[in-house]
Amino acid sequence: MEHHNSFSANQGAMHDTFGRRLHYLRVSLTDACNLRCVYCMPEDITFRPAAALLQDDEILTLVKVAASLGVDKVRLTGGEPTIRRGVVELVRAINAIPGIQRIAMTTNGIRLGELAGPLADAGLCQINVSIDSLQPDRFRAITRRGDLDDVWRGIAAAQAAGMDPIKLNCVVTRGFNDDEVSDLAMLTLVNPWEIRFIELMPLGSVATFQQDQVVPSAETRERIEAELGPLALEPGHNGHDPAKHYRLAGALGRLGFISSVTEPFCSGCNGLRLAADGRLRLCLLRDDEADLLTPLRAGADFATLRRMMAEAAYRKPWGHRLEEHDIAKSREMSQIGG
Ligand code: SAM
Repeated sequence: MEHHNSFSANQGAMHDTFGRRLHYLRVSLTDACNLRCVYCMPEDITFRPAAALLQDDEILTLVKVAASLGVDKVRLTGGEPTIRRGVVELVRAINAIPGIQRIAMTTNGIRLGELAGPLADAGLCQINVSIDSLQPDRFRAITRRGDLDDVWRGIAAAQAAGMDPIKLNCVVTRGFNDDEVSDLAMLTLVNPWEIRFIELMPLGSVATFQQDQVVPSAETRERIEAELGPLALEPGHNGHDPAKHYRLAGALGRLGFISSVTEPFCSGCNGLRLAADGRLRLCLLRDDEADLLTPLRAGADFATLRRMMAEAAYRKPWGHRLEEHDIAKSREMSQIGG
């Protein structure tokens, strides 16, 4: 890791001390969710009051600040981004910000049946839908309330709306869905989707559960190969994509393995996260944050916000320290957006 010693406020793009260029911003539109996934949040979670969250104009200001610092891709997440009122208009407004080239969303898909078309019209081009099980009862148990049919309707609507790529996120959780990974992988035989198997990451108040149930990607891959045959590694891995890609013989789609715990990809990290309460989170699994909402509401001008964002980005930590049992506890995953 190369250290850069000075921060230049005039730079056109954001870099951190390790020389990583940061041009991908994940924006959490709300900490609230219409599901309560067991590995994501406690069942009795209380969400923040709306006034404590970024308003639309505040989100747009901060995305403009980020775009002026070289951010070209925005991912909307949550909580659940589709339950935010006015989400379609927000996408349209973000899409109009000079410099923003791609808008993506990570969603549980429950509301996508009605929203995929309008979101695509507004400029959303790429979607990740979370789907941890293909069994309705099990899906309900993991999400504590979800109806799997809604998710399928959502995926079909996203496809009909022309979103591309369509990625399906599956967090592999021991004892919940680790015996289903081959069924999920088989979806790629006939669909041009990417099924992403994500290692369970420890964070917040459910960290102990998460640590106990983690399934290493290598184990998931071996299980799929044992049940379905060899996987071919896809050539040309983009060093910034957290997933390593493989393909089943003859498949239309591909598999992605995201091994945040067992094989961290911090050197390729190019992102920052804006939490729904206006704090810029510098690494998903570390509690380092910079509050941008307070200065924004106190009247800080564009140049000041720009400097604050770039300075915060500059001190982005290298990565997590899970191997040292250093677990970020200040927030739940749902408050950051994964
Ligand atoms: N509600 C949206 C959804 O369900 O995709 C967006 C927010 S959710 C926090 C984003 C992603 O993070 C989902 O794919 C979810 O499964 C994943 N996730 C949540 N908790 C996680 C954990 N502890 N480790 C790994 N992934 C997690």
